[in-house]
Amino acid sequence: MAAKKSMTRDDVMNEVSKYITNPESITLITKAADYAYEHHAGQFRKSGDPYTIHLDNVAYILAELRCGPKTVAAGFLHDTIEDTGITKEELTEEFDEEIAELVEAVTKIGALKFRDKNDPEYQAANHRKIFIAMAKDVRVILIKLADRLHNMRTLEFQPEASQKRISQETLDVYAPIAHRLGISAIKNELEDLCFLYLNPEEYHRIAHLVEAKKAERDESVQKMISDITKLLTEHHLEFRIFGRSKHLYSIYHKMVSKQKRFDEILDLLAIRIVTKTELNCYEILGYIHATYPPIQGRLKDYIAVPKQNMYQSIHTTIIGVNGKIFEVQIRTEDMDAVAERGVAAHWRYKEGNRYDARAEQKEIEEKLSWFRDFSDFAEDNESASEYMDSLRRDVFETSVYVMTPMGRVIDLPTGATPIDFAYRVHTEVGHTAVGAIVNDAMVPLNTELHTGDIVQIRTMKGTGPSEDWLKIVKTNQARNKIRAYLQHKENEKKAEKIPTGEKMLIEELKKRNFDPDEYVEKRRLEAALPEFKLKDINDLFYAIAVKSVNPVKVVEKLTNEKRSAPEEMLSRILAREAPKKKQTSANGIIVPGIESMKLTLAQCCCPVYGDEIRGYITKSEGVKVHRADCQNIAGMKQRMIDVQWDSEDRERQYESNLTIIAHDRNFLLTDIVTCTSQFKTPMNTVNAAVNRENLTTTIKMNVSVHNLEQLQNLIANLRKVESVITVERNSH
Ligand code: MN
Repeated sequence: MAAKKSMTRDDVMNEVSKYITNPESITLITKAADYAYEHHAGQFRKSGDPYTIHLDNVAYILAELRCGPKTVAAGFLHDTIEDTGITKEELTEEFDEEIAELVEAVTKIGALKFRDKNDPEYQAANHRKIFIAMAKDVRVILIKLADRLHNMRTLEFQPEASQKRISQETLDVYAPIAHRLGISAIKNELEDLCFLYLNPEEYHRIAHLVEAKKAERDESVQKMISDITKLLTEHHLEFRIFGRSKHLYSIYHKMVSKQKRFDEILDLLAIRIVTKTELNCYEILGYIHATYPPIQGRLKDYIAVPKQNMYQSIHTTIIGVNGKIFEVQIRTEDMDAVAERGVAAHWRYKEGNRYDARAEQKEIEEKLSWFRDFSDFAEDNESASEYMDSLRRDVFETSVYVMTPMGRVIDLPTGATPIDFAYRVHTEVGHTAVGAIVNDAMVPLNTELHTGDIVQIRTMKGTGPSEDWLKIVKTNQARNKIRAYLQHKENEKKAEKIPTGEKMLIEELKKRNFDPDEYVEKRRLEAALPEFKLKDINDLFYAIAVKSVNPVKVVEKLTNEKRSAPEEMLSRILAREAPKKKQTSANGIIVPGIESMKLTLAQCCCPVYGDEIRGYITKSEGVKVHRADCQNIAGMKQRMIDVQWDSEDRERQYESNLTIIAHDRNFLLTDIVTCTSQFKTPMNTVNAAVNRENLTTTIKMNVSVHNLEQLQNLIANLRKVESVITVERNSH
């Protein structure tokens, strides 16, 4: 790769003058440069150059991106807090709050410790997220990208181990962010530099192959350019046309990912045509296709359907002069600027317009499609829009990213506390937490955490969570673990009281001359439970021990000859005494031959209309209707009863629980939600949990459907969503 020329302060001012003329703005940039030069005086780069060379180059890259005067000024100042001991307050006083905040945010991101790829804790995706979350402002990301680009250009002066580490981090974190923001000029250069340091043999091999074919390629490209120029000129079109070469890393990536040899990479011969209007683009496409045969399936219209990062262009592949294959890109000047500089182009500094950082930020977010996906869906109806708002809050807006002292990134919902953090690290750390240290300061356990905080938990053996914690925590994980712990403690306490209760009951029976052996017996005790609204015998003993049930009443119940209500009901059903009249319950289910029976759908398997079903006669809640294959009634013979669906009621809906397992990816939940809504299936709840061990996501959702056919249809289509592994109905 041709080494980039190092830029001087004069080069910066010259580049700036191409789009900034306001004298105040020029003065601001000059002042920032002077200030930085003064405070970095005497500092040197590893190359031996004065440190200010780095500042000139960072500012120059920002000017090339057409950033505003404050951003260019912040480019000059970006290392002052880190390397010269200047404080944010001093910058605010000397310049203004906005510039000081930009420099401070750049400094904070610089302090993030990203881990080595060989480390099992390495989480590239999280690093990108924490980076973006901490930046908050797109300008901060642009300064950071410019900073990293110049550091990569001068990486040869670093020791080899640092070269590899910095290159890997750049490839994993910085290049994808540049891509996400559509800044391909920076993305491509970063990728090629990383490629050079990470895999020098392959880099040089491909560079050599490209060079060897260059003369031949240039000749074909020149011939094609002159032919197309002639063709389009005949039609009086205005355009620029030029050949372009793919960057080396993308050739390498294509060879590896598509398993192709170098000479098989189709679009090595590539031509770009830049014209005035969108209409011109389609006209040009038409003339080219009329003259050169297009290759089937290679036409891509990113003008009609822009890429997520706002990229727009038409791509087609044609058979050109001498049977050679060319990839042709057709786009307008504006589209070309966006393709090279992404958000920076969309947002390039326009003099005279009052700059409003918040408005710009909002506009950019709206342009980028991860937000657009949601707004499209929300137009359908109002409740869907409310639902999407809450989903967006949950998924996108509520994350804060904090770190362990070892640099492991933990993502938590907004408002999360050190207790949530502790349970995320390890259950035992959560249970024994007694204090927290956030950014070197001791804080109470209910302190709200913020992105970038470094959190350490102090633990003490033998302590446990308190009930109050339930009010403080924000994650379900912590809440469930605390509940489980408290429940366990409660059960332990209860277990101690059970023998006391049993003894009290025996005493009471003896007092009345009943034989305890006859009455303190499983079947009899169980029959008495519904009377006291209890679930099992131990509950009964416990209730007696803590005096919430009077043992006298239990004795009365046990010794009474009268059979309990459920037993009566059971015998009535079995004897088919009831009048032969059909009855439909509120659930659309009938029990042949039985009238006025309480019927409920079992929550474990959630039968829907059309499922094969069986009834189970409970002791106190009538008949529970299960799916015939529900594990909870597998092998049961007693208390089972035939139930049937009544004729279908089209208005009625049934809830069903689905579990979806998929490989984790961006927009997974969006796609699942979109698929579900396409089937007119209301979604009642949805939650997603990422399993970090195998990078899968488990999504649990509750939907309402009319019948089995609709449900099966939905499941079949959810299975077709990209990266989905399994979709199952819950059966227990
Ligand atoms: Mn720097």
